[in-house]
Amino acid sequence: MTKTTLRIYDTLTREKQVFEPIDPNNVRLYVCGPTVYDYAHVGNARPVVVFDTLVRVLRHLYPHVTYVRNVTDVDDKINERARQSGEPISEVTKRTHQAYLDDMGALNAAKPDIEPRATDHIPEMIAMCESLIEQGFAYAAEGHVLFSVDKYEDYGKFSRRDRKEMIAGARVEVAPYKKDPADFVLWKPSDDDTPGWESPWGRGRPGWHIECSAMSTRYLGENFDIHGGGQDLVFPHHENEIAQSCCANQGSSYAKYWMHNGHLMVEGEKMSKSLGNFVTVHDLLENWPGEAIRLAMLGTHYHQPINWTEDNLRQAKEALDRFYTALRQTPDVRPENVPVPASVLNALCDDLNTPLAIAEFHELVTELNKATKKYDKAEAKGRVLAAAELLGILENDPEDWFTGSADEDEAAEIDDLIAQRAEAKKNRDFATADKIRNDLIARGILLEDFKEGTSWKRV
Ligand SMILES: [Zn+2]
Repeated sequence: MTKTTLRIYDTLTREKQVFEPIDPNNVRLYVCGPTVYDYAHVGNARPVVVFDTLVRVLRHLYPHVTYVRNVTDVDDKINERARQSGEPISEVTKRTHQAYLDDMGALNAAKPDIEPRATDHIPEMIAMCESLIEQGFAYAAEGHVLFSVDKYEDYGKFSRRDRKEMIAGARVEVAPYKKDPADFVLWKPSDDDTPGWESPWGRGRPGWHIECSAMSTRYLGENFDIHGGGQDLVFPHHENEIAQSCCANQGSSYAKYWMHNGHLMVEGEKMSKSLGNFVTVHDLLENWPGEAIRLAMLGTHYHQPINWTEDNLRQAKEALDRFYTALRQTPDVRPENVPVPASVLNALCDDLNTPLAIAEFHELVTELNKATKKYDKAEAKGRVLAAAELLGILENDPEDWFTGSADEDEAAEIDDLIAQRAEAKKNRDFATADKIRNDLIARGILLEDFKEGTSWKRV
């Protein structure tokens, strides 16, 4: 058993719970992944960064973690996008999924251990539909398979909604084949222009909810530890996943803990294409380092709504400049096996309190800046690096962080000017030294003098 206790706020019980894995030798986590038809926006990136941080903490505490995140590659939005662009559906999903991985990778979010694609698991979904029909929880009607909500007495318990809210939330269309307006689709028919698979109910395709139930069971078993996603998935998506899985797999209680991140606003407003404040990660990465986006996101506790502002991004970038400056000034200090400081670990283990962890991290950097003896510096730097790994930051080379886009010729030229300036200063020719410095500032390059020598960065 590990000494540090992880506590997480569990949506099912609406309480902070001590995390006790079903099998401490294999902690199992499922997070709802993207529907791949367009670039991910910052709201899509939030659960990715939050659950990547959780996985880092879990991997620190337990010997083995299995992290599954699905890819929804069959969906009406994808079909519509392919129709508009004339591209084959498989091209749209392949291209968009790769862009998603690239963008999330730039935020230092590691790829999950398993990324199942919905279209590779149609037989499992059909089998689950058949099992639900056999047990009387679902029925087939006009090429559809529907889940019969009144057959599952706990329906609505998870999201704590009453029937009226559920019907409103289900956005019911006029569907004469439904026995009850709250019944939801497990399988639906496809026309000739829409992707479809042969099934006992004719050619069709799965509903979205059944995908996650089928794929989580396939890779993590009927019971696993944590199910995560954005708060907007609590109803109907997660309510329906629970209904499907608990009814298909009798005796199963599905996920033991449920974690949901809060929603995201942009400059105080709901993000929407019509308001013109729709921010994709792809666009943000044009102007900001991925680590700044990540740190800005972790600056708000995951459970709270986040207000995404340029100001927060700038502050995160400045904080990273400070962290990288501390590393840059200690290039020769190579710490060994320094454990993660309790201050940061305890903050993260308290329901992933990243704002507190970041505040504690600033303290560690201050200690590194203050350290003078070689041993103290090594200890302090080791603590900074160990904590950074848990937060998923400082993965760049400190030199590259500041000099970034310099090509070799430019870097060599700047190094040469720094040498000329040092020579001028040695000769007490301060006019020349100042001119070199000011010419570089005019080019957006700032020289910084440290005990160990002079380095430069773009400003
Ligand atoms: Zn899901």
